[in-house]
Amino acid sequence: MQKDYNSSSSDSNSIFDKDTKYVMQTYGRQPIVLDSGKGSLVYDIEGREYIDCVAGIAVNNIGHCHPLLVEAIKKQAEKLIHVSNLYYTEPQAELAEQLVKLTEMDRVFFCNSGTEAVEAAMKLARINTKKTDFIAVEHSFHGRTMGALSLTYKDMYRDPFKPLVQEEMFVPFNDAQAISDAITENTAAVIVEPIQGEGGINVPSEDYLKEVRKICDENDTLLIFDEVQTGFGRTGTWFCKEQFGVEPDIMTMAKAIGGGFPMGAIAAREDVSFGRGEHAATFGGGPLACASALASIEVIREENLVQRSKEMGEYFRSQLSDLSTDGLVEVRGKGLMIGVQFDRKCADIVEHGRRNGVLFNCTSESVLRIAPPLVITKEEIDRVVNVLEQA
Ligand SMILES: *Cc1c(COP(=O)(O)O)cnc(C)c1O
Repeated sequence: MQKDYNSSSSDSNSIFDKDTKYVMQTYGRQPIVLDSGKGSLVYDIEGREYIDCVAGIAVNNIGHCHPLLVEAIKKQAEKLIHVSNLYYTEPQAELAEQLVKLTEMDRVFFCNSGTEAVEAAMKLARINTKKTDFIAVEHSFHGRTMGALSLTYKDMYRDPFKPLVQEEMFVPFNDAQAISDAITENTAAVIVEPIQGEGGINVPSEDYLKEVRKICDENDTLLIFDEVQTGFGRTGTWFCKEQFGVEPDIMTMAKAIGGGFPMGAIAAREDVSFGRGEHAATFGGGPLACASALASIEVIREENLVQRSKEMGEYFRSQLSDLSTDGLVEVRGKGLMIGVQFDRKCADIVEHGRRNGVLFNCTSESVLRIAPPLVITKEEIDRVVNVLEQA
């Protein structure tokens, strides 16, 4: 473990060079080349070990390369990798049943990513209500394709791509009255993340989502919960909505759904569902993705990871709250979706972490996002807290 975290080998450098030359430079990457992973740990090609507090951005909930997931992917790959949605497959039907039960919704539609799930939710809201407009909240993140981008708050992401599906639609987060004021007879849906991820791990007050639900009901407007980041045990319940006791009409899922295998889905009430021909995706609900999701759900169940997320999250937050790290303002979140607010940019802390064997991500400039695999151990949490202490 005590390898030098400061030097890159020629191997790393040749990979950096290829990326710089051939990949569109959209990402601000950390200067390491990741090569393998196990549980909460990842290793770079020089063999250095890191505790992964990013987890693919809340994706690897069951840990890296879980043997059950690897086995399920191998088995399915040997049998059938892709067929068209012109045909039925067993993994898709099985997964649909499981997701309907877990979400307590009635039907699902499968796609391949979070942004696609949001697109599907938008189309579903429009076709179901015959209305066109949306209300989203400030600091939201819903994805990067044109529809989802329209619902995403950050000007930097939006401005170069205007005109979008809709321009003025944002109201302050955690302000139900603002939604009530903004809603019109043409509002198809209100979309919220039950806890905002990209926007800085913002937890709304207890009654906010209940009030939003009521306002939507009074105005014949649908309520969409974007659970792309909060789903699959991340916040200490299967889905975050359970903690607020509110049912949406449509919910989006992606990130952790396939245990790392790319997949997205929406779930909706029976009377809000798509009909024949109203939406489609070539790869949506493919056998390999569905087999991955089934295995991932099984691991979350068998290893009690939902409860574990709750307990480890509480432990993590309590340890973090005791820190006297320079500039630390607040520790917040639920389960293992944790935000550490600083009074300054936290890029230097991300770098300090990397040099000391911990991967962090900084979101909203000054919020350290901590979203490790739900299998993280107390000992690993202590190591992370220790590294932060020295920051
Ligand atoms: C990540 C994220 C998305 C977009 O998902 P992609 O798979 O990157 O398209 C949408 N909504 C939320 C809440 C997210 O966190």
